[in-house]
Amino acid sequence: MNAVELTRELVRIDTINPVSPERPCAERVGRLLENAGFAVAKYEFAPGRTSLVARRAGSGPALCFAGHLDTVPLGAAQWKHEPFGGELSGGNLYGRGSSDMKSGIAAMVAAAVELAHKPLRKGLTLVLVAGEETGCEGAAHLARTHGALGEAGAMIVGEPTGNAPVIGHKGALWLRARTRGITAHGSMPEKGENAVVKAARAVLALSEFRFHATPDPLLGGPTLNVGTFHGGLNVNSVPDEASIGIDIRTIPAVRHAELRRELERYLGPDVELTPLVDLEGVRTAEEDPFVHAVREAVAAVTGERSAPGAATYFTDASVLTPAYGGIPTVVLGPGEMALCHQTDEYCRVQRVEQAVAAYVEIARAWCGA
Ligand SMILES: [Zn+2]
Repeated sequence: MNAVELTRELVRIDTINPVSPERPCAERVGRLLENAGFAVAKYEFAPGRTSLVARRAGSGPALCFAGHLDTVPLGAAQWKHEPFGGELSGGNLYGRGSSDMKSGIAAMVAAAVELAHKPLRKGLTLVLVAGEETGCEGAAHLARTHGALGEAGAMIVGEPTGNAPVIGHKGALWLRARTRGITAHGSMPEKGENAVVKAARAVLALSEFRFHATPDPLLGGPTLNVGTFHGGLNVNSVPDEASIGIDIRTIPAVRHAELRRELERYLGPDVELTPLVDLEGVRTAEEDPFVHAVREAVAAVTGERSAPGAATYFTDASVLTPAYGGIPTVVLGPGEMALCHQTDEYCRVQRVEQAVAAYVEIARAWCGA
């Protein structure tokens, strides 16, 4: 199977989240995997929002290839290249999702098809999900659907890394903090209770909040930013409600549930916290044998041997890695990190071909082909 042609075909299927559901794209790759001997199960978290899990059984924990089928919208700027054309030009393949991450999906499917007639000792699973771009909805749905994911012992996430292994990314915990008060006429503030003042105290307290976690050598330390502040409706009333938006980027040493409890104690009973996004960070040890195997496979294919890096974005691994019991996870994909979500997004054709070869090597090493 030609992974470049498959990438073009998938780019031509509009899967902009949430307006263009993933089902046609899931059906296309599902058929290819079924023909290659995989047992394919589809799951929808909403009508048309199809994720699929394709499994080839073996003895021992499977290797999992994971990716998402949805893309972000096109943005306001005019594209020079047709966004759903899959146009090839100057060694590049253009279109929405070409880097993030239909080239990764195509390379994973092509690798699975290439291994179809080879005996594998351990299993191989592909988890191709809907709804990643809006907060890993498809992955979360699979994780809470009993038996959907099966078992796996290691995972590759095909998000764009330019074929360089990435062994960690931060998590995101976005919270809305709400304060409440009692409204009164602005000329008699002593009769009310000012919610804006309570929120302001909370913001000042947050600006002095210190994390206890030891910084990660690759990811650094956790951070906290107050991104929004809203309160009050009219100048001559005591405001009875205010809210602030808090963006916390965590490292895997920080457990979100514990952090939320700590913040609740720290801010006191005047402040109510509600999570808006809750995705934990992911980090695999550089010394892990799976990381070593991935680096060897990449070096054999590309001739490049770079130290494993970290990504700035979060991925479905925030959901899937813990769902699989904290398995070693490497993000490795043919797309270009810098081109995600951009106008005139493209991927390099050569990297798509290299990714297929690297995925085949990684599967051989893990599954014992
Ligand atoms: Zn992505």
